[in-house]
Amino acid sequence: AKSSGRNGYQIYEQTRPERSVNKLTLLEEMRSGIENGDFFLEYQPQYNLVSGRIIGAEALVRWQHPSLGRLMPGEFIGLAEESGLIVPLGRWVMKEACRQNKAWQDAGLTPITIGVNVSARQFSDVGLVADVTAALEESGMRATYLELELTESLLIQNAEQAVELMDDFRRIGLKLAIDDFGIGYSSLVALKSFPLTRLKIDRSFIRDLDYDENDRSIARAIVSLGRELGLCVVAEGVETAKQQAFLASCRCEVVQGFHFGRPMSANKFGKLLGMTLTP
Ligand code: C2E
Ligand code: CA
Ligand code: CA
Ligand code: CA
Repeated sequence: AKSSGRNGYQIYEQTRPERSVNKLTLLEEMRSGIENGDFFLEYQPQYNLVSGRIIGAEALVRWQHPSLGRLMPGEFIGLAEESGLIVPLGRWVMKEACRQNKAWQDAGLTPITIGVNVSARQFSDVGLVADVTAALEESGMRATYLELELTESLLIQNAEQAVELMDDFRRIGLKLAIDDFGIGYSSLVALKSFPLTRLKIDRSFIRDLDYDENDRSIARAIVSLGRELGLCVVAEGVETAKQQAFLASCRCEVVQGFHFGRPMSANKFGKLLGMTLTP
């Protein structure tokens, strides 16, 4: 979604014609939607390439808008960020993801790590540690099952506070992933400077693996760099069996993408997880 004019906001998706809505109205609706429970999460499975087991999920937010229907993050996260509403929205996402993951654990399903996206605005908010702590306490889920996904631009923007904040999170026991790795301007500095546990290779390096020799070299190098640094390496946006086979040959540890499963409702994900019995 993009801004158009002073108060216009374009809502578009491949599945429907573009339409213009009033930005201030949309903001007001977002504010009330957060309180009224109009947002929900979908979960996309992450698989260990060797065992074939689900080891995690990424939580992705959607908005069930009262009149516009279901909106994807690309249609409202920008507005949430520029308005600051990403802070209360992100707080809800964190709580809901922890609550749901703990519910799966309490149902006897294999414990998995739940990944939550954190935007720059949230990361620079003084309340973030309190929000994370509250989500953990209220849900009763152990910190080790929560992973924050941070982009390199976010980290570089706030480099100094970022290290301190990340150290705090690591002390609590959280996992920290660098998201969309490789497309920023300071990827290597980020790896050197921040206490990360995971590296998510950006989808753009995976997309053309089947026919682009250079992308194969880059992906292979990122996987070995990550392993060398002791990080768990995740490839995002895996869409074909050929990409999967190549990543396995590079000893990439974890995969996520449409080839393995699209983001799905909590209910569906719970059933999928239930098929993987605890050893
Ligand atoms: P992201 O963090 O890079 O999340 C992955 C996106 O790639 C998701 O789009 C997912 O549906 C999509 N995807 C997964 N596998 C494939 C694949 O094989 N092929 C292709 N073409 N796409 C794939 P989605 O759900 O539309 O989310 C878009 C972005 O919105 C996310 O990108 C993330 O930056 C942001 N976002 C989503 N949920 C949240 C949230 O709760 N908080 C914040 N701050 N940002 C969020
Ligand atoms: Ca992500
Ligand atoms: Ca990503
Ligand atoms: Ca992305």
